[in-house]
Amino acid sequence: MTEYAIEISGLRKTYAASKQQEAKEALKGIDLNIPHGSIFGLLGPNGAGKSTLINILAGLVIKTSGTVKIWGFDQDENPRQSRASIGVMPQEPNLDPFFTPCGSLDVQAGLYGVPRSQRRTDEILELIGLTDKANAYARSLSGGMRRRLLLGKALVHSPQILVLDEPTAGVDITLRNQLWDNVRRLNNEGMTIILTTHYLEEAEAMCDEIAIINHGSLIIRDTTANLLGKLDQKTLVITPTVRSQIASTAEIDVTHTDDGKIKLSYHPAQTSDNAVLDYLRTSSVNIKDIQTDVPDLEDVFLSLTE
Ligand code: ADP
Ligand code: MG
Repeated sequence: MTEYAIEISGLRKTYAASKQQEAKEALKGIDLNIPHGSIFGLLGPNGAGKSTLINILAGLVIKTSGTVKIWGFDQDENPRQSRASIGVMPQEPNLDPFFTPCGSLDVQAGLYGVPRSQRRTDEILELIGLTDKANAYARSLSGGMRRRLLLGKALVHSPQILVLDEPTAGVDITLRNQLWDNVRRLNNEGMTIILTTHYLEEAEAMCDEIAIINHGSLIIRDTTANLLGKLDQKTLVITPTVRSQIASTAEIDVTHTDDGKIKLSYHPAQTSDNAVLDYLRTSSVNIKDIQTDVPDLEDVFLSLTE
């Protein structure tokens, strides 16, 4: 077995100009290795390049340059093996309305060259909760059912790696939980999972490791725990009645802005709000105004790109 499920190096993608759009450099040289067995989150705002990256892995978008190895197989040198190792649930539903779930899974299995005797159609229908709808036309399925069917299609060839592009965008909470239960189960059975989302809470709950991309570049890649440690920061912004100076402490990092505000930054997991307020009282600053500043994903981007 290879050490990594996915090895990406120097990956670039420029979409050619069209009548509607000028050329767009969507990926600007990505290096990223994803260990096998993990649930790996690819995060970033809309337009960051997440789908481009995933669609390159899926063989749906042709890269401009760089190398991609899937399960140890170079995408260019061993296209068949690399494609057989990965299943992708795309962001955009691409279901044929005239196929039934059973038919869609069968056609997909055929595309991947899975012999009839080895097809797991019933098992997959069961997993995605569509056994009842096995013979209903796709156009009669609800949005949630269609998404589940897309998941099923990604699984027909029993890939080692499953990639989910924004699997829960626009999906209600019950379905979301069902989907995550399925994903955890597949991961427990040994499947490497890669998912994109722009919901940080979701990534936090599901992923062992996270990479953040923005404007086509990798900004950071770390364990979820470490990344959240970086997020564990809160800032009190004080406007004093008269210009005042406060010293930093071991727990509280104090900075003074040019316009006389005092910013006290601390890690709420270690230092309570009360402790910070107590420190403020002992430093005898007269407070005119007080605000709190809790970082969100955007702050993480900013702090990491500055
Ligand atoms: P994300 O999935 O992170 O939202 P995408 O990979 O879909 O980002 O898009 C990255 C950038 O590439 C965006 O600026 C988008 O407009 C552009 N883009 C995506 N697909 C195409 C395409 N087929 N043709 C031209 N530009 C594209
Ligand atoms: Mg996308």
